[in-house]
Amino acid sequence: MSTTWHVLGAGSLGTLWATRLARAGVPVRLIVRDEARLHAYRAAGGLTLVEQGAAHTWGIPGETAENGEPINRLLVACKAYDAEQAVARLASRLAPDAELILLQNGLGSQDAVAAQVPHARCISASSTEGAFREGDWRVVFAGHGYTWLGDAGHPVAPIWLDELVSAGIPHAWSIDILTRLWRKLALNCAINPLTVLHDCRNGGLQDHHCEVATLCGELSELLERCGQPAAAEDLQQEVERVIHATAANYSSMYQDVAQGRRTEISYLLGYACKTAARHQLNLPHLNQLQQRLIAHLQRLGLPSD
Ligand code: NAP
Repeated sequence: MSTTWHVLGAGSLGTLWATRLARAGVPVRLIVRDEARLHAYRAAGGLTLVEQGAAHTWGIPGETAENGEPINRLLVACKAYDAEQAVARLASRLAPDAELILLQNGLGSQDAVAAQVPHARCISASSTEGAFREGDWRVVFAGHGYTWLGDAGHPVAPIWLDELVSAGIPHAWSIDILTRLWRKLALNCAINPLTVLHDCRNGGLQDHHCEVATLCGELSELLERCGQPAAAEDLQQEVERVIHATAANYSSMYQDVAQGRRTEISYLLGYACKTAARHQLNLPHLNQLQQRLIAHLQRLGLPSD
């Protein structure tokens, strides 16, 4: 009998993973926020994944954190700002050799989670898959992609990667997951805040070439100082390539702001600025970008952390 995957968070990525694992016959249980959400989930009859226009519902069993059963494998699929507290509520249920897979974007939340569960193995993930919530318990698989998984403290791959193969989750084990997370964070810092401030699609940044180039220069300096030279390599070229390739798209931060949702700023631009300050590195344009973004979010009445 294979180990049960507990999926914490029934949002976009949580549903994308839970439904594909369930479809492959892997045991999955879903942990939702509270009794009210559990009641609503049970009434809906399961999680629905919409793929190429076709919807399928999977009756994955649901529970709250208060269910006392032990957890051996936990997929953390909350936003970065919710992960630490959500995992803390489950700490007493974790088996001594439990493994956590952390799907959060950016940096900072992974360390915060690991500090809550010092005996568990924490595996970080960086994903280019895309999904969005069409409604409660219903998610659209919007963009095929790839997920890199890795554990900076322990380079040996876990055996359950085979289950991801049978679930059709494209992935690879990465021995340099921190470099991947930093690179993605730098791309995000160079693109997403500017799309919010200039109120444009990614392609609109082609009109702000100098501003993007200046930010890339400072981000490269930061990556070098953090011991991540590989993440700094040709950063500006890749940023420009992404802007061009995704010209018609709205960035995730743009969409969060447009829909009045909290952003993950503290784990992206905020993390970059905090790390620069810790290294006593003066990055004026990056700091100014953070101040402008915070002021913008405050004007809109959105959380700025
Ligand atoms: P999401 O759709 O907002 O889902 C987050 C889920 O976490 C929600 O269902 C929320 O519950 C749940 N949650 C929060 N606190 C909880 C708690 N204490 N107990 C149980 N559930 C809790 O977020 P997402 O888009 O999947 O993003 C998750 C992470 O993946 C983010 O860091 C994001 O940047 C990253 N990511 C997302 C994508 C994507 O395409 N969506 C791609 C790459 C990376 P409620 O439903 O009750 O609010």
